[in-house]
Amino acid sequence: MSDSFVESGLHEPDWPAPANVKAVITTRHGGLSGPPFESNNLGLHVGDAEDAVMQNRTLLAEDTGKQLDFQWLTQVHGNTVLTLDKELVDEGAEADALYTRQKKIACGVLTADCLSVLFCDEKGEEIAVAHAGWRGLATGVLERTIAKFDAEPNTLLAYLGPVIGPCHFEVGDEVRQAFLDLDLPEIINQHSILFHESENAENGQHKWMADLYAIAKIILASRGVTRIYGEPICTYCEFDNYYSYRRDGDTGRFASIIWKE
Ligand SMILES: [Zn+2]
Repeated sequence: MSDSFVESGLHEPDWPAPANVKAVITTRHGGLSGPPFESNNLGLHVGDAEDAVMQNRTLLAEDTGKQLDFQWLTQVHGNTVLTLDKELVDEGAEADALYTRQKKIACGVLTADCLSVLFCDEKGEEIAVAHAGWRGLATGVLERTIAKFDAEPNTLLAYLGPVIGPCHFEVGDEVRQAFLDLDLPEIINQHSILFHESENAENGQHKWMADLYAIAKIILASRGVTRIYGEPICTYCEFDNYYSYRRDGDTGRFASIIWKE
């Protein structure tokens, strides 16, 4: 992955998207935020100085160099997918995914452990991005994003961004149960792989190390999306490059962005 980093701290996903579909995933690098947000925090609601965040967003716009309109959301770990037509909407809009057919609208989600998923169809007509933590995954944010597409699921490409890995994502029974309740055979059959029992039982309650990346792939495939790219990069482990809420609490957010030229 490191060879696709550029000086600005942007990572270009390695996936066979059509030439008119562009995407970047930002890192901690290249921005102006001070501790504990150093340096390229793009999230406004994490306690960082607003000036710094807005300057970081301006730098991002310059680095992508395409005179894009950036659309951000107020993410609530829900399953609402916002469709963007000509007009941008206020950043206060509560949703966890964006879908559009419009050109030059950069659709972005912000994460620090949660999964981001970029989508496009093979013709490059439709794009989407979703923010999917465990709650979003368990309540259908990916399925609802796929459903926005006119293109058939087997013609879609999906790219999975950095996400907290099974090495660090410890959850309680309720999280494991939420995924078992989806009633997907692959999750039920593989539950002992997707949820390793942790040594840290709490008040007699089991704890589990959950593999969100693998769960997301199963959910996508269950809806016919099998052209899935990316590699599992743990945000908690990769402290040089990514923010991790689990690791740091007070920290920044990095962005996953997709647009059509
Ligand atoms: Zn890890």
